[in-house]
Amino acid sequence: MICKLCLEDKPLLRRSHIIPDFMYQDIYDENHWIHRGRPSEPSRMGRVPTGEYEGNILCKPCDNEIIGNYESYGSRALYGGELPIAESPIFEQVVTPAGQRITVCRNIDYRKFKLFLLSILWRASISDRDFFSDVNLGGHEDTIREMLLGGYAREPNIYPILLATYLGDIETPADVIGQPHRFRLERSIGYNFLIGGTYYIFFISRSGIPAYVLDASISPSNEMKIIHLSGDDSGRLLHQYFGMSGK
Ligand SMILES: [Zn+2]
Repeated sequence: MICKLCLEDKPLLRRSHIIPDFMYQDIYDENHWIHRGRPSEPSRMGRVPTGEYEGNILCKPCDNEIIGNYESYGSRALYGGELPIAESPIFEQVVTPAGQRITVCRNIDYRKFKLFLLSILWRASISDRDFFSDVNLGGHEDTIREMLLGGYAREPNIYPILLATYLGDIETPADVIGQPHRFRLERSIGYNFLIGGTYYIFFISRSGIPAYVLDASISPSNEMKIIHLSGDDSGRLLHQYFGMSGK
């Protein structure tokens, strides 16, 4: 059987995750968590759905080593863990003059982190599961496959990714995985994933990407900005998100 990443005829794994299990938790920051979940409602934390996985898509080296290495970095960068001090991301909470709260992330590895996020988008596109039926990258699927296989993160304006979180807002649920959907924003097209209280917004078009997206997306200087959504924003976005995905 043909592995969808290396395109070689190899035995394929019976279980490959599309969204890694470790993303079903809150993101790490300098205070350990951007938001600690719901200590007042510990029972809710048990309701996190199990990860979506699929068989016969990837061979063992592609899943465990190539994608596994990106996941290993993504997990330690976003959720904390065993990274040497020199490789640990630095997070700083900032309020812009316009009143927008952001988390500035520094020392976050451009290549590894971007490819980690793109691996989720790509896996959703190759997946046949209903949950990912709206994700269809067309010709971009093979472009991203080559980036993942070769370890090329390419230029920052190629598939930039915006992270926006409502984890600072206790009124909105953090234990939600939304069905990914395609969107059109001005002249750009992309896909929006809602995972554990954070929107991962992938831009596919090469043109028409808003300047603030390029400013916030991870850059080769190893910096990234996570946008914090206010209570009003997050309620509206959640409503739109599930409205658009037909739920
Ligand atoms: Zn393979």
